[in-house]
Amino acid sequence: SLVTFLEKTNQSKRFLEKAEMIMPGGVTANIKYFAPYPIVLSKAQGAYVTDVDGNQYIDYLLSYGALMLGHGHSQIKEAVVRQLEEDGTNLFGTPHQLEVEMGETIQTLYPSMERLRYTNSGTEATLLALRIAAAYTGKRKIAKFEGHYHGGYDEVLVSVNPSLAKAGPEERPHAVLESKGMSQSHLETTIVLPFNDLESCEQILRDNHKDISAVIIEPLQAGFIPAKPIFIEGLRKLTEELDILLIFDEVKTGFRVSLGGAQELYHVEPDITTLGKVIGGGFPVGIVGGRKDIMMVSAPKGSADVFDHSQSKGSSASEVLFHSGTYNGHPTILAAGLATISVLKNEMNHVLNTTEELKSRLEWLFQKHHIPMKAIGVGSIFSVVLTEIEKIQNYRDLQLTNLRLRKEIDLHLLGEGIYMKPLNRYSLSTAHTELEVKSTVQAYEHILAKGLR
Ligand code: PMP
Repeated sequence: SLVTFLEKTNQSKRFLEKAEMIMPGGVTANIKYFAPYPIVLSKAQGAYVTDVDGNQYIDYLLSYGALMLGHGHSQIKEAVVRQLEEDGTNLFGTPHQLEVEMGETIQTLYPSMERLRYTNSGTEATLLALRIAAAYTGKRKIAKFEGHYHGGYDEVLVSVNPSLAKAGPEERPHAVLESKGMSQSHLETTIVLPFNDLESCEQILRDNHKDISAVIIEPLQAGFIPAKPIFIEGLRKLTEELDILLIFDEVKTGFRVSLGGAQELYHVEPDITTLGKVIGGGFPVGIVGGRKDIMMVSAPKGSADVFDHSQSKGSSASEVLFHSGTYNGHPTILAAGLATISVLKNEMNHVLNTTEELKSRLEWLFQKHHIPMKAIGVGSIFSVVLTEIEKIQNYRDLQLTNLRLRKEIDLHLLGEGIYMKPLNRYSLSTAHTELEVKSTVQAYEHILAKGLR
């Protein structure tokens, strides 16, 4: 229970007091904070993490989905050490072999990524994707969906988690700024769309298509609420017709809903794709890739291809799109990512089966306790959604579910040795087995038996 949690995590609390003297709120990303205080982890192996009080937890946060092989996988460690031994300091500042090897691996799984570039995070990947779209189309506004997250910069930090009081009509959502310090101009330049509502999207896009360079979308909102196939197929056709590029942000869904991401699942080809998280094997990375003629706007002046493919409408061959980064394509990280893919190719089915097992056993358990619940998600991510609503299709539906009870259950779960940041998604890894599923269901059983409502 919450009392157990507070009793068990004294050292975390004391550490947080110290951390508050260093970092505002004691954390280095707001998302890492939760009330009453976040748990401070100090060790991790496989599916398990240990906190500074010595409590062990089964980890379902997995660094927000990044760790698909669990913690400290031996093949990642070996690949990283091998790379360090072969190449010393590991940062060439030149093109190198692993960039191409990783690129070829990506292209076989994501054929729509005909050319690609590396970045250092998912945030940087969507930032570059949007700049490429603006350069290619010569248009300056973007459209994004209510409730979708693409990184922490102004252009996309609009209507990610808006209060329903400010969010306007469901079929034509208002743009809401998500941070202090943002320019009001983004209320004009970032257009907000309703997820899974094709008719309303069509109206908004037709009204604004002359200004919109790209529609950026999480094909599964927050990694778990799926786009209806008919919605995403319709969006593909519509954007093509209106000369708007379609960007799939697969930072979260990539390798998780399917090895080839949501685009493999839906058989829909975006113009540009962004990847991150899993493909870094636990290290910071992002990848942007897409149709060759689009991606070529980022080719340097003087490179052979730029003259052959200067059909981009927004810029001439003499104007070059700027993309840089000291650490782009970092060899150690690409080695970790390649090791991750090679393990995943053999073990993906195991992860998918374990996830299905956990989902169905949890649903059965909630049913037994007469609490309406759906384990919503595809592949290796899902969320426990407490709802009687038949279909959860967008951000607003989710706000109407029992988030209060969900949060309470999550805090109890911490007391029971299940690591789930309140209200977050469950991600599984190759290290999660039948044993962890069983312990997790038992922990839930324990909590639900208390009669929480
Ligand atoms: N896009 C999506 C869909 C994400 O889930 C995230 C991270 N949660 C990002 C972009 C940003 O990635 P990063 O945290 O690596 O900058």
